[in-house]
Amino acid sequence: ILMLKNVSVFYGEHPVLKDVNMGIRPGRILAVMGPSGSGKTTLLRALNGLLWEEPEAEMKGEICLQGRDTRTMDREELRRRVGLVFQTPQPFPFSIYKNMTYAPRYYGIRKKEQLEEIVREKLMMAGLYEEVKGELSKSALKLSGGQKQRLCIARALTAEPEVLLLDEPCSALDVKASAVIEETLLGLKERYTIVIVTHNISQARRIADDAAFFSEGRLVEYGKAETLFTAPEKEETRSFLTGVC
Ligand code: ATP
Repeated sequence: ILMLKNVSVFYGEHPVLKDVNMGIRPGRILAVMGPSGSGKTTLLRALNGLLWEEPEAEMKGEICLQGRDTRTMDREELRRRVGLVFQTPQPFPFSIYKNMTYAPRYYGIRKKEQLEEIVREKLMMAGLYEEVKGELSKSALKLSGGQKQRLCIARALTAEPEVLLLDEPCSALDVKASAVIEETLLGLKERYTIVIVTHNISQARRIADDAAFFSEGRLVEYGKAETLFTAPEKEETRSFLTGVC
């Protein structure tokens, strides 16, 4: 669904991604791993076009979404089709309902019943509906960390994306809240292509179909998660995996 061809990103003279070539397959969860500063967040920002908002960042190469060069797309269209969920969940400081209807309203949906159905459907998909259905008018800021993160996932889904990017979504959460997010993502992968940056190797092992290992901006190894975790080809991947396990 996404194809990166010779993608390099520079901040001034400083290369952050170096000649990355990879195809991201639909209906799967891809875990992106690598040491701090290896370019993982930059990769996500390049995939949804957020990087182009930064005047100091320069990208070379091509990223195609369903065969179309993303740079020829309207930025808004790209953002809608490739959703990004940040490390620290940042719901809007409004009610849960308003968070969930923001994008649909923006895209012109006005009918109450239709909006309510979207809110219900997406909250269910993010495994949050049962917990909040009686209090949709409550401020989103009053939710727990895990609930906020699931709200941000649900909110991203209201834009009807094809790809969902998540940047260390569980880094601020405890084991239990992380497990709920993992379950949520597994439930979403039939319908969305999911790319998750994670420092948690056991988490990647539990949920990823594919895995990519980055080091100093280079894509060192990429393939089926099972193979990469059990029999990595490159020494660099092996020492990273043993180092952090
Ligand atoms: P982490 O795991 O710590 O989040 P990462 O693998 O996601 O790291 P990036 O955040 O993509 O790495 O950063 C890669 C490199 O790009 C780092 O050396 C960082 O200093 C640099 N970088 C990121 N954003 C900018 C920016 N706006 N201006 C200059 N350099 C930047």
